[in-house]
Amino acid sequence: MRYSQYLLTTLKETPADAEIVSHQLMLRAGMIRKVAAGIYNYLPFGLRAVRKVEEIVRQEMEKAGALELLMPMVVPAELWQESQRWEQYGKELLRLKDRKDSDFCLGPTHEEVITDIVRGAVRSYRQLPLNLYQIQSKFRDEIRPRFGLMRGREFIMKDAYSFDLDEAGADAAYEKMFQAYRRIFERCGLKFRAVEADTGNIGGSSSHEFMVLAESGEDAIVSCSSCQYAANVEKAELIATAEATPEPAMDLQKVATPGMKSVEEVTTYLEVTPQRLVKTLVLQTDGGETVAVLLRGDRELNDIKLCRLLGCNEVTLASEEVVQQVTGAPSGFAGPVGLELRVLADHEVAAMADFIVGANAADSHYAGVNLQRDFTVEAFADLRLTVAGDPCPRCASPLESWRGIEVGHIFKLGTKYSEALGATVLDDQGKDRVLIMGCYGIGIGRTVASAIEQNHDENGIIFPLPIAPFQVLIAVVNPKDEAVLKASEDLYQSLQQAGVEVLLDDRDERPGSKFKDADLLGIPLRLTVGTRGLKEEAVELQRRKDGERTMLPLAGAAELLA
Ligand code: ATP
Ligand code: MG
Ligand code: MG
Ligand code: MG
Repeated sequence: MRYSQYLLTTLKETPADAEIVSHQLMLRAGMIRKVAAGIYNYLPFGLRAVRKVEEIVRQEMEKAGALELLMPMVVPAELWQESQRWEQYGKELLRLKDRKDSDFCLGPTHEEVITDIVRGAVRSYRQLPLNLYQIQSKFRDEIRPRFGLMRGREFIMKDAYSFDLDEAGADAAYEKMFQAYRRIFERCGLKFRAVEADTGNIGGSSSHEFMVLAESGEDAIVSCSSCQYAANVEKAELIATAEATPEPAMDLQKVATPGMKSVEEVTTYLEVTPQRLVKTLVLQTDGGETVAVLLRGDRELNDIKLCRLLGCNEVTLASEEVVQQVTGAPSGFAGPVGLELRVLADHEVAAMADFIVGANAADSHYAGVNLQRDFTVEAFADLRLTVAGDPCPRCASPLESWRGIEVGHIFKLGTKYSEALGATVLDDQGKDRVLIMGCYGIGIGRTVASAIEQNHDENGIIFPLPIAPFQVLIAVVNPKDEAVLKASEDLYQSLQQAGVEVLLDDRDERPGSKFKDADLLGIPLRLTVGTRGLKEEAVELQRRKDGERTMLPLAGAAELLA
């Protein structure tokens, strides 16, 4: 590719609305461009990285025996009504009507559609096991789209679904996907952990998240170096609380006043275990004491359900400054990080209060209420999640803690969808059997962003070779010098013939700005062709990763790199 004919506009300044490094660098390197909140254009340079990840995913999925297909993004409501998720899913599901007034949604995930395919096409156990996958744009109307491709509303996901006759088969399918995911993220050059996770909204019996380790990550995870236990903090907490006395739920009863919802009412309504109600918050109002409940769990689901329970339209999250003001949380408080926690107040309080939650760097979680009236916070709840140094639930060794970005998630689904939609096959006795499912997602764009989050320096991106948009950049120092241009062209041609992906920077720009762009773009290898080097019949090779330079003889340079 010739830079002079390529659409690649770099930015010198860091865009003001980009909070994390990967988002800043992806904008500055001309990889993506915002269309609307959480909706992006993938520009040519960015798309190449996205396609690289897709290709790795495809290869590993095929190796694991999965078959690629493509489902529609627009899904009729009927399918979602069969699983009852049409009612349950909440505001993340973007619903729309066609000209005949029929209901549709933009698929945020495709369990219903795939189960519909299988119930129609699979009749006999002989057609099993089956694992079907697609790489496709999903839409989720995220409450807080941010960080560029990291949390978009429209984003590319690889989603796979396995179908088996029995538990043993389903376990084997899960294990295969687990191993495929390890290989995928290893090949993408990522430092990651596979952690035990809560099954949340999608349901099912067990699940792992693949977490890329990064300070900017929205998830908190703990791991044990003695026994290899690793879990999402939320899951670790559930295990720890389940094993201990169910004290948090009892807190609620202790302070509940007449007219308040009971623990049972709340947990039944929210479909959560009492262990998820973690602490109570007591508010002093004009009319006496009112109780709020802190809730940990799946964010969006709770939002919706909380709204219904409280009879309000929205549960709002306040800014970090407001959180700090109201709660007196220490500085360094990272507001948006702790969104797993929810504050639940009774109806009247909800109407007047904004809910705010957050977490500080040490993962002690705080919650408070933004008071617009004569409220005072009587007791401010201070929750402590599992943190570094806490005993491992398996072997009691001290745990380590990390922040992570969820790039992949695998679930054992069981029969939730096959039962609801009636996906059965005949077994070898001629008896109808409900299929056992698994589902397996990877955020493609989020994986690219995570790789940049882990691989960059102050000058720009440092692409891991397997996902780099190009492997080699040729910096033509002075394209007006004919010998330089010719040598660069020759190199460009022979590298391309050898199958190397090359970006030839043939622009009429000062060398300094070309080198700056080269650093920003993060192409792993840079060949610099200039008048001085050519006098010695040599070109300079520089590695982006560590800046290491070597002179290569012009004659054999292409062969050396190919
Ligand atoms: P999160 O906890 O970050 O909201 P999720 O648990 O809702 O993610 P899943 O339903 O497990 O996401 O979807 C599978 C994968 O899709 C995730 O592991 C993630 O890599 C990716 N993904 C989910 N939501 C988004 C998004 N809004 N933008 C980009 N990628 C996403
Ligand atoms: Mg989500
Ligand atoms: Mg998640
Ligand atoms: Mg998930």
